[in-house]
Amino acid sequence: MDFDSDFTLTINGREIRTEREMDVINPATGLAFARAPLAQQAELDAAVTAAQAAFPAWKALGWDGRRALLLAAAKALEPHAAALAQLFVREQGRPLAMARGEIDLGIHWIKAVARQTLADETVEDSPARTVYVRHEPLGVVAGIVPWNFPFLLAIWKIAPALISGNTMVLKPSPFTPLCTLKLAEIWRDILPAGVFNVINGENDLGPMMTAHPGFAKISFTGSTATGKRVMEAAALDLKRVTLELGGNDAAIVLPDVDVKAVARKLFFGAFYNSAQVCIATKRLYVHDAIYDAMRDELAELVRANTVGDGSAPGVMFGPVQNKPQYDRVQALIAGARAQGLTIIEGPAPIGAAGYFIPLTLVDNPPEEAAVVQEEAFGPVLPLLRYTDMDDVITRANASEYGLAGAVWTSDVALGIEIANRLETGTVWINDNLQNGPHIPFAGAKQSGLGVENGLDGLREFTWRRTVFAPKPA
Ligand code: NAD
Repeated sequence: MDFDSDFTLTINGREIRTEREMDVINPATGLAFARAPLAQQAELDAAVTAAQAAFPAWKALGWDGRRALLLAAAKALEPHAAALAQLFVREQGRPLAMARGEIDLGIHWIKAVARQTLADETVEDSPARTVYVRHEPLGVVAGIVPWNFPFLLAIWKIAPALISGNTMVLKPSPFTPLCTLKLAEIWRDILPAGVFNVINGENDLGPMMTAHPGFAKISFTGSTATGKRVMEAAALDLKRVTLELGGNDAAIVLPDVDVKAVARKLFFGAFYNSAQVCIATKRLYVHDAIYDAMRDELAELVRANTVGDGSAPGVMFGPVQNKPQYDRVQALIAGARAQGLTIIEGPAPIGAAGYFIPLTLVDNPPEEAAVVQEEAFGPVLPLLRYTDMDDVITRANASEYGLAGAVWTSDVALGIEIANRLETGTVWINDNLQNGPHIPFAGAKQSGLGVENGLDGLREFTWRRTVFAPKPA
């Protein structure tokens, strides 16, 4: 299989070429390196029709039949993992080892979710009757995915949608379509035709999907602003939605931590994937007693890490993935400079042409600064000083977002107490960026609606039939 060129849509198990195509840019060079097909209404309609036609037989296969095919699909990716990782670096920008990490994790995730089952739930078993709930697949699901974890976040949708008996039309981000197009190509001979379709398009394709009457559900990951548009469009015919949206995650560091050891973990929790992680630490609250020491440790780490082309050996942090995001993050940093805030930045990037931004700290900006209030989604991290625990919890919670948060302390019982006061869907104590196929992931407040992962995530791809069955007299 050619991973350098020849990217096609997959509709009804077949390759589809389109008249119109788009350039795919390597963010480390700013240059186009591949062409991707562009679906329009006709391709979307064909994909939905194929998925609708495939639905009854896929549903009838049952959990075990679908499980066998999904496990085969996961296995079929394994020989291509290295090539997919190489392609991932070129379209997404992340260094090779970490790109490979996402591919391997994605394959693991499919296998783990494929082993899940939603059994009937008996909710009453009395002398007069049994009442049970059965979960039925919804039909055709639309998956809409962002560019920061393009492979894994697609799989977070594909695996639960398919194992629970739905068929799917998936749209990757137009910034990172290539690995997803190849994934579908690899599966053409493994999954029954029409069960899994991938279409790529420009900005108009997402709204076309949310308006399409053939979808029973939209599973969306992306920004809060787009999520609201998805929900609005889905309301027209009451499509089900799961929305995994933005975040501005706070981490609170107590004065009892080992500064040096924790600094390293905080650094990677904030800057992994050049900080383009929905659950990255985006506001770092450090107790006054250790603030200076922690800032100095983090500054040392920032200065020791040069941003560069992810395909170059030794590079740990790649470019920002696309030009609009690069401009946004640069504007936030420029705004902080214009405010006279103290900026600590890493070395000049290797390779000037790409969308490179040195890892950047902002030293104790005011709470109302844009760099604190907005989701940066790029390598700029505000460090914020606090003295009072109630005050810092109030500041952490003073956000329209509620995705994840973290507490760092050597007193785990106290950490749990604080965790229970944070208004976020996930809280880690002395950790970050953790999740798993068996662990429900859900944003609070405007960070989302519904759940991904775990059995709760699986249930979101089903409707419930509650059956009242009388016992024999
Ligand atoms: P985005 O909202 O711009 O785009 C996401 C996807 O939606 C893309 O595929 C895009 O083409 C599509 N889209 C755009 N407009 C649409 C519309 N009107 N209707 C339907 N689809 C549309 O987000 P992005 O810039 O790709 O990703 C970054 C954002 O995603 C950040 O806010 C980040 O926090 C969030 N994110 C959240 C999670 C999570 O699990 N909560 C995970 C990763 C990223």
